[in-house]
Amino acid sequence: MNEIACVSGVELLMDYLEGVLAPEVSAALDAHVGGCQKCTAFVTSYRATPRIMRDATGATLPADLEASLRAFLRARTSAFRSR
Ligand SMILES: [Zn+2]
Repeated sequence: MNEIACVSGVELLMDYLEGVLAPEVSAALDAHVGGCQKCTAFVTSYRATPRIMRDATGATLPADLEASLRAFLRARTSAFRSR
C-alpha cells in the first residue's frame, strides 16, 4: 500500500477533491485521509469553502465585482489551458 505524507499530499488532496486522480491514487488517499485527523480537517474545510463562498456571493457581491471576478477567472483558466 502506498504511504502518503500529509504535507506532500496537499496538492494531491486538491486533485483528490477535484476527482481527477487515478483510481488507485484516490483509493490510497481515501485510506490515508480516513486515518489522519489533519487531512480529514483539510478535506472538511476544503469541501465547505465553495459553499461558504457561494453563500457570500449571493448575499453581498455587487454585480460589477462579480463581472470582474468572472473575467479574472476566465483569464486564469485560459492561462492554464495554454500551458
Ligand atoms: Zn494526513
